[in-house]
Amino acid sequence: MAPVLQSIVVLLSLVSPSICVSLPTPESTEVSHHPRHAPHFSDDRPIGVFRRLRNAVIEKIWSLPPKSSHPPSSVHLSNAPQHFRTRYGNDVVLRFRIRSADEAKTLADAAAILLLDVWEGTDEWVDIRVAKDMLPSLMGLLPSSLHDSYTPLMHDLAQAVFDTYPTSSSTSEHDQAWVSPVPTHSWKSTSGPPQDLFFHDYQPLSVLYPWLRLIASLFPTHAELISIGKSAEGRDIPALRIGTQKDYIPQGDHDSRQTLVISGGSHAREWISVSTTSYIAYSLVTRYGHRYPHVTKLLDHFDLVFIPALNPDGYEYTWTTDRLWRKNRQSTDIPFCPGIDIDRSFDFGWDGHTGRDNACSDDYAGTGPLGAVEARILSDWARNQTENNNVTFVAYLDLHSYSQEVLYPYSYTCDVQPPNLEDLEEVAIGLAKSFRLTNGHYYGVESACEGSITFKDKATSKRMQGEQGGSALDFFYHDLQTKFAYQIKLRDTGTYGFLLPRSHIVPTGEEAYEAVLGLGRWLLGNHGIEKFDDLNEVWGTEEAGMKDQEQGIVSQDPVDVYDKEDEDIDPPSFELRRRRRR
Ligand SMILES: [Zn+2]
Repeated sequence: MAPVLQSIVVLLSLVSPSICVSLPTPESTEVSHHPRHAPHFSDDRPIGVFRRLRNAVIEKIWSLPPKSSHPPSSVHLSNAPQHFRTRYGNDVVLRFRIRSADEAKTLADAAAILLLDVWEGTDEWVDIRVAKDMLPSLMGLLPSSLHDSYTPLMHDLAQAVFDTYPTSSSTSEHDQAWVSPVPTHSWKSTSGPPQDLFFHDYQPLSVLYPWLRLIASLFPTHAELISIGKSAEGRDIPALRIGTQKDYIPQGDHDSRQTLVISGGSHAREWISVSTTSYIAYSLVTRYGHRYPHVTKLLDHFDLVFIPALNPDGYEYTWTTDRLWRKNRQSTDIPFCPGIDIDRSFDFGWDGHTGRDNACSDDYAGTGPLGAVEARILSDWARNQTENNNVTFVAYLDLHSYSQEVLYPYSYTCDVQPPNLEDLEEVAIGLAKSFRLTNGHYYGVESACEGSITFKDKATSKRMQGEQGGSALDFFYHDLQTKFAYQIKLRDTGTYGFLLPRSHIVPTGEEAYEAVLGLGRWLLGNHGIEKFDDLNEVWGTEEAGMKDQEQGIVSQDPVDVYDKEDEDIDPPSFELRRRRRR
């Protein structure tokens, strides 16, 4: 079918969903949204969703430019509705500066006792969400030295939450976009980042799922939409399988389909991981062809499976009810505390039996391995691929946020070194380099086990709380022998945390896309298929990077505002472990 004709068929299928091509139809497409897509509005307008998708198709068919080449301005007045103020107005996110082992220990203990939502942490700071009226209780558990060593990350949490939902103004910009026929070059020939309207905002499932179907139907030669199974609430967990060897049948025992898996959305509130997974897939699919030889080689040699929303129930819940929800949504033994942390539920190294678990906590591991439906689905699907479809997983990237880090196995313990540690570190450093060279944002590299709940006392080698088991990272690395498995924590480093503004969607996607391209070049070179004169070019070049800096976009890391002398503190007798909620 000719591309334009096919686009029209897709367009018709969007306007009239009953004509839709036979691809998985997630049940949640029936959930619809409203101008700001925010919770608790009653004026559902599904037509608006389809209008936006339709507009995107029209732009592509007639090569029209988007109304603006940049995401909508994020100038916001203090206009969060009352129900946002009711839910989040009493909360603050505080960054505590840690200066001693005692401070670290008491802060970790207090957070556990009060069941506080610990967002992220490093060996110098810990971010904690706490209700204002809980502050006296928290302070009562902390040493006096911590009473004045914290700063709020966001001055208005309710507003920051509200600002992450799409705006009505951005919707109206989309509405106008296709009626302004300014002549331009074809979207297929643009060399810059993709300008798909999809990436101007974070998108709910009701837009994500039809968009995935659209991509698959527009590029049938190298994209296919599959469902790896159904979530606890019965939603499909969709995946885009990208590559040109869809019909390839491996020959012989030593031949296999080499596959990279990239997943996002395991933790519901980490929206940037959903958009970034989608962005990488979109960039590869639309750039396949002679103008992008690296993309073409990658897709000709490997299958890439993108799972943008591993936790669709939790993700949907962040759009309808609670923006800061983290787990899935299945019931637990405690009726008023649903949800299991998918990334603590995988079989390998599962550690939910250690007694520190509580169904009401944000990282509840369930009552046994694979208790989270979505973890079991991914596990079964992946095992079936290797056992029955002759697939070899060569790389796995599990996208999360925030803190800008590339983490390699193991997560469940620091006591066991991964067998190919040197290779893991080399590629991790390469990935971090690609991230940095694209937009100038620094990504750290370390073992995932360093992301434990709190700190260890070097003098006694006693861990205060253990490493985190049951991760998808360890499952792919250990059980599926995926040699290059990483968990990547995307932007930012705490200015917005999980509430990253939409203006970061495209640049974060672009730096992750460059990292995947680098990984592809490294894998191809390593297989002897392609040689590079300069190994430095595998991960990018210095000249290619720093786009954000050139454009005047600079990181506003809260860490930067601390005094230099504070950064030099290096307590000799302890090592503060990172308490992270990945
Ligand atoms: Zn996470």
